[in-house]
Amino acid sequence: MTIQLHDTLQGRKVPFEPLKKGEVTMYLCGPTVYNYAHIGNARPAVVFDLLARILRRHYKLTFARNITDVDDKINAASVETGRPIDEITARYIQAYNEDMGALGVQPPDVEPRATQHIDVMIKMIGKLIENGCAYEAEGHVLFDVGSYERYGELSKRDLREMIAGSRVEVAPYKKAAQDFVLWKPSTPELPGWDSPWGRGRPGWHIECSAMAEKHLGETIDIHAGGMDLVFPHHENECAQSACAHGGAPFARYWLHNGFLSIDQTKMSKSLGNVLLVHNLIETIPGEVIRLALLGAHYRQPLDWSAETIAAARRMLDRLYGAVRGIAVSDEARAAAEPPEAFIAALEDDLNTPKALAEFFALARALNKANAPAEMESLAAAMFAAGDVIGLLQSDPEEWFAGDVDGELPADKIETLIKERNAAKAERDFERADAIRDQLSDAGITIQDSREGTTWRRGA
Ligand code: AMP
Ligand code: ZN
Repeated sequence: MTIQLHDTLQGRKVPFEPLKKGEVTMYLCGPTVYNYAHIGNARPAVVFDLLARILRRHYKLTFARNITDVDDKINAASVETGRPIDEITARYIQAYNEDMGALGVQPPDVEPRATQHIDVMIKMIGKLIENGCAYEAEGHVLFDVGSYERYGELSKRDLREMIAGSRVEVAPYKKAAQDFVLWKPSTPELPGWDSPWGRGRPGWHIECSAMAEKHLGETIDIHAGGMDLVFPHHENECAQSACAHGGAPFARYWLHNGFLSIDQTKMSKSLGNVLLVHNLIETIPGEVIRLALLGAHYRQPLDWSAETIAAARRMLDRLYGAVRGIAVSDEARAAAEPPEAFIAALEDDLNTPKALAEFFALARALNKANAPAEMESLAAAMFAAGDVIGLLQSDPEEWFAGDVDGELPADKIETLIKERNAAKAERDFERADAIRDQLSDAGITIQDSREGTTWRRGA
């Protein structure tokens, strides 16, 4: 077995080999906690949770996913809502963990918070100044990109071209437009910590470099995040860490997930199409969302629509349908292994479309089987595959009865139908259609007739 991973730095798929035999370190840039996570934010969390599960089959993994709890977006949210920063961050940290938990994301081994690592950041910044890679100017400390020869290597950008092409208004204290902030001054009403450069707060990039160093060491095996983070965030992390560590490489493999769009459009606040996981899980089972997120290869774009959800729901119905009613003893379950081809697909740069095809091949074999012993061992293999990918975690009977979290309970469905009928009576067809869509996304089909409206689960 060799796990293959696509490394952004090398630009190709390569065999994975950890620095230390039998042990792996992985860092994923986590959320900035000023709001609920949207479905795009859930993609890296789910995809790299799956990678963590695959790695744990072979290695002792230390997986860190940070929390950015000091950031200007958080400060802005505090001003806007009049709520203290600590209250905002505590609330959204908890919500993030609950929402990701609902999608089957296992907790990381370490969840470092930026505000608890300010001392590590200050130390690292001090080292960078000492090395001549950073400079202090007007209460700011900036990283001097010109001091790092390999700047631009990860994102395949040429620093000279970047400098020549930059049109942004450059802050007067910067040597070059691309120099980025490691430390900035705070006014009394903003969060701040004492430092050799006055009271201030860290820039975003240094947070990750410092937390990765503290919890995983100077050189980590895998660094992951969304594609949008390659530049500038990861390029900057890479430069800071290498310069602070005498040139030692920061991450041996860089992994980036593709972007998620909604109905073929970019998700954005201004378009009003931001889907929060917190809301989605009210009416859609977490496994449906998880499967929908894993349906496309992680490096490909993924479009989210009513059809994406419906297709994932149909697939789960097929998987649960195959194992339904088959008694699997604890021994058979404990002894079962997922199919080799399923694991091989996942170990091939997380090829989830192929792995899911193998999962369905197993379900078909089970549907065809007649001998009880064969049925039991095939069903046990399905549960074993489910445990790896994070699906089939509910009881099949409960699944079909709609008793799993996220399934709309019958009384809520009835209420929505009443609301829809009232909206229709008031000729508010937009509202009536919105309720029909909400029910349809939740896997509920409604049928209007002269006698009234009936509903059923499933298409
Ligand atoms: P942020 O809070 O914006 O730093 O995002 C947290 C994580 O979500 C990062 O890894 C981003 O790359 C990722 N992310 C944000 N939007 C999307 C999207 N539409 N599709 C996929 N990943 C995303
Ligand atoms: Zn980061």
